[in-house]
Amino acid sequence: MGSEAPIHVLLVSFPAQGHINPLLRLGKWLAAKGLFVTFVTTEDVGKDMRASNSITDKSVTPVGDGFLKFEFFDEYLKPDDPIKKSLNTLTADVELVGKKFISQMIKRYEATNTPISCIINNPFYPWVVDVASDHGIPSALLWIQSAAVFSAYYHYFHKLVPFPSETEPYIDVQLPSILLKYNEIPDFLHPSSPFPFFGTLILEQFKNLSKPFCVLVDSFEELEHDSINNLSNSIPIRSIGPLFKNDTKTTSTTNISGNFFKPDDSIIEWLHSRPSASVVYISFGSIVHLPQKQVDEIAYGLINSQVSFLWVLKPPHKNLEVQPHVLPNGFIEETSEKGKVVQWSPQEQVLAHPSVACFVTHCGWNSSMEALSLGVPVLTFPAWGDQVTNTKFLVDVFGIGVRLGYSQAENKMVTRDEVKRLLLEATKGSKAEELKKNALRWKMAAEAAVADGGSSQRNLHAFVEDINNLAHNIPTKSLPF
Ligand code: UDP
Repeated sequence: MGSEAPIHVLLVSFPAQGHINPLLRLGKWLAAKGLFVTFVTTEDVGKDMRASNSITDKSVTPVGDGFLKFEFFDEYLKPDDPIKKSLNTLTADVELVGKKFISQMIKRYEATNTPISCIINNPFYPWVVDVASDHGIPSALLWIQSAAVFSAYYHYFHKLVPFPSETEPYIDVQLPSILLKYNEIPDFLHPSSPFPFFGTLILEQFKNLSKPFCVLVDSFEELEHDSINNLSNSIPIRSIGPLFKNDTKTTSTTNISGNFFKPDDSIIEWLHSRPSASVVYISFGSIVHLPQKQVDEIAYGLINSQVSFLWVLKPPHKNLEVQPHVLPNGFIEETSEKGKVVQWSPQEQVLAHPSVACFVTHCGWNSSMEALSLGVPVLTFPAWGDQVTNTKFLVDVFGIGVRLGYSQAENKMVTRDEVKRLLLEATKGSKAEELKKNALRWKMAAEAAVADGGSSQRNLHAFVEDINNLAHNIPTKSLPF
């Protein structure tokens, strides 16, 4: 590092595992390149992050050439706060408290001569870019889903192509890069979505897209060339993924993670004991909670197929009012030779392990990118939102998956016989070989994208140059706009 104080970047994350992981990966990369990064999310998940990792509130950790620091804010107003009465949604509550907290932070750092030069947020906290622009600070958005999904929301928001509506619910959607059936669009946009609230929340980000100077996407040019290329005609987009590959590449000296749970210690040892390419890894991410009956069918499908498996059966998300899953009587005993059930796994390490044959996934974008970039074929089991679109891409475009489950909107049960048939199809024989071959091709492409001179590395370096230039009031020549 030179004698000048490092440039200070503030990262503000929505408090979900699938949001924190990619933003923290970006934060670690920026820190490793010599920036001072402050990572902010809510105290609600901060408690879990501190308990499960070596993270402390407000302490500064050296990472590569720079530094990383965490700060957490209490997102809830006190129940008796008089302002609470005038608010009618939970998000208005968080927005009010969050805006105040970030504004105070900006002033505090200004006063101590470590001013914030750039603020980066991820979707669901669209108000962050407003705080940034109110204070005259440049901001960037890290889009944590695919570029194709961004394109779907963009086209919906600007009414560029027809989408399913109350009167025409079954029409196809023609995006520039792909034709999506009515049940392949991000389903928060469908009129029959059980969760329209999330669609509204995501679209908020599209209202103020003119404010961020750059939209970063956790994807790579070789993977989503058409979507990225098309979007670059309208927005300053830069693909910088897969972020988790950058992360492991540049920060081997530090082991900072944003996990909300401690992974089970015995998993990797157990995988070492299994034959090569024999284990089916099963995980539905951090939020999805399958119906109990579906869990039973998966359990019997596993018993009947006799495959070896590692199954993450996590306790329900703390905000969901549902019962924890129970496994059929005798399941653990009957499968103890071949299977292992855990509450949380070190997923990147698991997917990178040579004993893993394939991944039964809900197709969250982080899980999808991790599988694809580590060369692991998938059995898709989407629940909602972008997961249904990711399924379409994983199976029909990237060629690394077979469809196993249905989205919650389709509300269909997969029987134990289907589970058995598809587990065998994805692990043995010609289909399994074809999927693996394609997955290994994507693994190589992902590695090339994050290698020196690769598309994502170039974009990341250009982004750091933009931050530097903006911090020193130098015109940002490298910006696409
Ligand atoms: N994850 C993990 N261990 C688990 C399950 C999930 O580390 O047992 C991580 C996974 O690697 C991914 C994130 O949690 O980075 C989940 O994000 P994703 O977008 O796949 O799904 P979401 O949880 O947002 O639905």
